Amino acid sequence: MQQRAERREMAVSESSVAELRAQVAGAVIMPGDVGYDEARAAWNLVIDQYPAVIVRAESAADVSAAVRFAGAHGLGVKVQATGHGASREADGAMLVLTAGLTELRIDAEAQTAWVGAGLMWGPVLAKAQEAGLAPLLGSSPGVGAVGYTLGGGVGWLARKYGLASDSVLAFEVVLGDGRIVRASEDENADLFWGLRGSAGSLGIVTGMEIRLFPVSMVYGGNLLYPVAQAREVLRRYRDWIATLPDAMTTSVVLLNVPPLPDVPEMLRGQSFAVVRGAYAGPATEGAALMDHWRQWQSPVIDMFQEMPFAAVAGISMDPEGPMPGAGTSVWMDELSDEAIDVLIHYGTPQGGPPAIVSTEVRHLGGAIAQAEGVTSAYSLRNESLVLHAVGITPTPEAFTHVMGQLAGLRAALAPYLTGSVYPNFLEGEEKWARTADAFSPEVLEQLQAVKTKYDPQNIFRYALDIQPAG
Ligand SMILES: Cc1cc2nc3c(=O)[nH]c(=O)nc-3n(C[C@H](O)[C@H](O)[C@H](O)COP(=O)(O)OP(=O)(O)OC[C@H]3O[C@@H](n4cnc5c(N)ncnc54)[C@H](O)[C@@H]3O)c2cc1C
Repeated sequence: MQQRAERREMAVSESSVAELRAQVAGAVIMPGDVGYDEARAAWNLVIDQYPAVIVRAESAADVSAAVRFAGAHGLGVKVQATGHGASREADGAMLVLTAGLTELRIDAEAQTAWVGAGLMWGPVLAKAQEAGLAPLLGSSPGVGAVGYTLGGGVGWLARKYGLASDSVLAFEVVLGDGRIVRASEDENADLFWGLRGSAGSLGIVTGMEIRLFPVSMVYGGNLLYPVAQAREVLRRYRDWIATLPDAMTTSVVLLNVPPLPDVPEMLRGQSFAVVRGAYAGPATEGAALMDHWRQWQSPVIDMFQEMPFAAVAGISMDPEGPMPGAGTSVWMDELSDEAIDVLIHYGTPQGGPPAIVSTEVRHLGGAIAQAEGVTSAYSLRNESLVLHAVGITPTPEAFTHVMGQLAGLRAALAPYLTGSVYPNFLEGEEKWARTADAFSPEVLEQLQAVKTKYDPQNIFRYALDIQPAG
C-alpha cells in the first residue's frame, strides 16, 4: 500500500488539468476521480499502473491536446487501446486511451479499410467479411488492430499474405509536439518506415488505412494428441513444416488446459500436444496436408475443418476476458531434439501441473520473408520459428512462480535461440529491456534518427527503449 501511495504523489494538480478538460471532448480522469481505477486497468490484469492523468480520447484532436499538455508538464505519454500489450506501467505519466476512436470504413472495390485506433480486430473482421475480404489479424479478435500492426502482426494468413504492418497504406499520427500528420510512402516516408515494426514508440497513431485480402473460407483448426506423445509430435512437426506451402500457416503447442469451469469438460485440466493452423486455399488441399497427421495417428480431438474466416478466433481459442498473465518470447533457430526436450520439460506436467499454460512455436517465413519491395523497421523477416510461452498469474505468488519458470525456459533454450525477439509477444519490462534484440543494429540506428526527428523529447517512452539523439 505504501508503494501505491508513493506512486500517487506524482499526480499533477487539479487546477492545471482544468485547462486540458476545456480542450478535449473526451473524459479527463485524475487519481481519486470516480472511474480512475477502471480507466487505468488493462486487459492483462497484472498491470497495476497509476497515471498522473488519463485522457479518454474521442478524436485525433483530443490525442493532440493530451500530448501537448504532457509535453508542457514534463509527463511521458503511454497509449493504450485494449491493454493486451502490457508495456511499461504508466506511473506518474499521461495515459491516453484510444478506445473512443472507432471509425471504420471499408472500401470493397479498392479492397482497403480505414481503421480507427480504438478498434479491436473483431469489428474490422466482421465488416470486411461482409465483402468477402479479410484483414491480417492475429489469433485473437480482441486484440487492438493498431497496436498489433505497429509491432508487425503475425496471424493465420501470415505465410500467405505477410505481416499486418506490410498491409498498411497510411497512418494518421500525433507526434511528440502534438502535430497531427499523415505517414505513407509519399508523406513523411521516414516516419512511415519506422512506424511499421517499432511497436508504438514514435507517436500515437489515431487511424490507419490497410489493405484487405480476398479470403472468406479457410481450412483450419487443431489436432490434439495426448501429451505423452509430445516428443514425437514436435519432431514430426519440425520435419513437416519444411514441406509446407506458403498458404499453410501453423504452430505446435504444448497446452495445459486450466481446470476452469467455463472450459469444456473433455479439455478441462488436461494436457495435449497440439498441431494448429489454417490453410488459405481450397479445403481439399488443406485436408490433404493434414492427412499427414491423421494417417500417422488419429488425434484425441480433430477440430480441423473448412470454416468461415470470420470464425478464425476458434483456431487459437485465446481467452476473451481480461485476465492476469505473464509470458515470454524468443526466436528459435531450429527445433532440434535437444530444444524439443527443453520445451517438453517446461511445457508439460512433470509430476504436477506446469506453471506455463501454453508453449507455442509458430512457423512463419513465407510471404513475410519474401515481401519484395517493402522496407520497414520490422527486422525479423528471416526468422521463422517464434516461441511464445504464457502462464496465468492470479496471485503474486503465482506471478513469481510463472516468471521463474519462464526465465528457466529461456536459459535452458539459450543454445537453440537466434538472439532476436518479437516485440508483440513480449510484455512489460522485458519488452522494453530487449529493444535492441528486436531490430538489426542498422535499423535501430535509423529508428533513433526517426525518433530524434519526430519525438525528440522521448515523450513516447513506454513502448520500447528507442532513445533520441542527445
Ligand atoms: C490473447 C492475445 C493474442 C495475441 N495474438 C497475437 C497474434 O496472433 N499475433 C501477434 O503478432 N500478436 C499477438 N498478440 C500480441 C499483440 O499484438 C500485442 O500485445 C499488441 O501490442 C496488442 O495491442 P493492443 O493495442 O491490443 O494492446 P495495448 O496494451 O493497448 O497496446 C500495446 C502497445 O501497443 C502500442 N500502441 C497501441 N495503440 C497504439 C496507438 N494508437 N499508437 C501508437 N502505439 C500504440 C503501445 O506501445 C502500447 O503500449 C496477442 C496478444 C494477446 C494478449
